[in-house]
Amino acid sequence: MELSKKAKNIKPSSTLAVTAKAKKMKAEGIDVVGFGAGEPDFDTPEHIKEAAIQAISDGFTKYTPASGTDELKKAICEKFKKENGLDYAPNQIVISNGAKHSLTNVFMAILNAGDEVIIPGPYWLSYPEMVRLADGVPVIVHGRKEKDYKVTAEDLEKYLSNKTKAIVINSPNNPTGVVYSKDELKEIADFAVKHDLYVISDEIYEKLIYDGLEHVSIASFNEEIYKRTIVINGVSKSYAMTGWRIGYLAAVPEVAKAISNLQSHATSNPNSIAQKATVAALTGPQDCVEKMRIEFEKRRNYMLERLSKISSFSVVKPQGAFYVFIDISQLVGKQFAGKSIENADVFSDILLESEKVAVVSCTDFGYPSCIRLSYAISLENIQKGLDRIENFVNQLG
Ligand code: PMP
Ligand code: GLU
Repeated sequence: MELSKKAKNIKPSSTLAVTAKAKKMKAEGIDVVGFGAGEPDFDTPEHIKEAAIQAISDGFTKYTPASGTDELKKAICEKFKKENGLDYAPNQIVISNGAKHSLTNVFMAILNAGDEVIIPGPYWLSYPEMVRLADGVPVIVHGRKEKDYKVTAEDLEKYLSNKTKAIVINSPNNPTGVVYSKDELKEIADFAVKHDLYVISDEIYEKLIYDGLEHVSIASFNEEIYKRTIVINGVSKSYAMTGWRIGYLAAVPEVAKAISNLQSHATSNPNSIAQKATVAALTGPQDCVEKMRIEFEKRRNYMLERLSKISSFSVVKPQGAFYVFIDISQLVGKQFAGKSIENADVFSDILLESEKVAVVSCTDFGYPSCIRLSYAISLENIQKGLDRIENFVNQLG
């Protein structure tokens, strides 16, 4: 008996694997510092938990419509209007089991076999796998460090073909933390309209943005770009709700309907209790989000100050999300205990083994000589982890 080609070709998510490994080591009593996890260390705010408890007590424990409750869709529409200047009706919203699920649904709904999706790199590692799962072809456009890893319409143009169906935009970006400016986004929007492409705009980190910058949704420029953009968002990062598994998307009614049909067979509705909790997250007090954002900004500043002192690391200043992306090319070829650091995979393996520090190698993000450090951990742990990293790098011969 044989597995499908799809199943055989898919790689497990290395971000989840690193996070799980660090958590397991901790549970075994090993003093690990985990810069791997792309998940806030904060607890879900109390009023959100209370709403979930209330939902259980009220017996809100049955199937809901497959694409989510009207109550939550309305709350999401209000959020889009108020925060992003975007007008959507509830029939344009689909709520899923996390933004990861929303994205998978999108590719299933818009791609035919062989359709190409342009993905600017560094990219979140799941995009190419999701595209392949939907029989599409990921086309990677590598951003360069000199340009803060951002791509322009001119870069994208070179990768256009008659099979190009969509572009993925992720600002603030995972893994670099860079944020596209309004003008940069406008240029990409014009490009997408000119070439009749869908834009999948992953805005999951929109609320984690620093230096006084403001998030802009690419869908908000004009009617043309609005019609072709599928906005992805969720509560995992902004409200420290990774385990609740609620993500959502907004699109024109035909796209939303197709995705809702798909979901009605694949998973039915997202968890009813988590939907109630998400209503509380979106409509309740927002000071909890700001508190977490301020804390992340403090940690980012500390990370940047410390990392600037490690001369073999090359860093682009992140202005959003909770990651620092580090080019370690200068360390390639160095030795540690008889082993050669050939790439970021080897670097991160040795670092975990010898210093008990978990970082994410960015091979699966399209950059095999870069690593990603998440600062979704306490300042105390950041300090301890950076001490160890500095010590490790200094030992490399
Ligand atoms: N997009 C990006 C860029 C991410 O980093 C993540 C992290 N998990 C997701 C989407 C998915 O988030 P979730 O499924 O937890 O909503
Ligand atoms: N998005 C987070 C990360 O990049 C969580 C893990 C995952 O879903 O990949 O680490």
